[in-house]
Amino acid sequence: MNIILFGPPGAGKGTQANKIAKKFNLEKISTGDLLRNEVKKNTDIGKKVKPIIDKGSFVPDSLISDLLTHILSNQQFYNRLIFDGYPRNLKQAQDLDSLIKKHNQKISFVLNLNVDKELLKKRILGRQICTNCGAIFNEHFMTTSNEEHTCGNKFLVKRSDDDEKIILHRFETYLDKTLPILDYYKKLNLLHEINGNTEIDQIFKEICAIIGSLEAWLWKAYLYK
Ligand code: AMP
Repeated sequence: MNIILFGPPGAGKGTQANKIAKKFNLEKISTGDLLRNEVKKNTDIGKKVKPIIDKGSFVPDSLISDLLTHILSNQQFYNRLIFDGYPRNLKQAQDLDSLIKKHNQKISFVLNLNVDKELLKKRILGRQICTNCGAIFNEHFMTTSNEEHTCGNKFLVKRSDDDEKIILHRFETYLDKTLPILDYYKKLNLLHEINGNTEIDQIFKEICAIIGSLEAWLWKAYLYK
């Protein structure tokens, strides 16, 4: 199954995508992580996208499409992807449709994390990322001494775009460019709403229940087709 995890910046997509990927043996594809990795390695792409990311704007669709072509053509990830932060606008949703079809795959469903605006801000401003393993923490809600996190605190960093002014721009861009995609997936009957205002484990439980029922449905559809 391929899943799209949808929601505004700070909704907790990365945190939930990590947990879903682990439990359901999926590969998490975060376009934000892929781009930050290019920046970290100081590649040509990285040099081009750094100022765009730092402003909180979108990097060009063509560049994102190139990154995704690589992933969808990789047999290792066949039909076991969870997308976090992609697609981000209608053009990217259409590009993804073409790519998915070309590689004989399907979007199984789209999960939309609904979170109140004030909580989004708190989650973004407290966010810390481990540059070693990709785990995501929050100084307001979680202690970084999480037993399962063995890398230690030395790799924890704040994202350069998790800044109060840039958050506002990212949120406005989300409302303007990303939110309209929800209608697109609603019409395709793929959309499922999640209450993202609760605790991490409670949100994950809700997600697992939905995935469980959809998985059973997908199996039935596969067996009786
Ligand atoms: P994220 O980690 O998803 O919050 O993304 C961080 C930043 O990377 C965004 O603010 C954009 O500048 C860029 N970015 C990530 N994914 C995309 C995408 N699908 N399309 C355009 N820009 C993106």
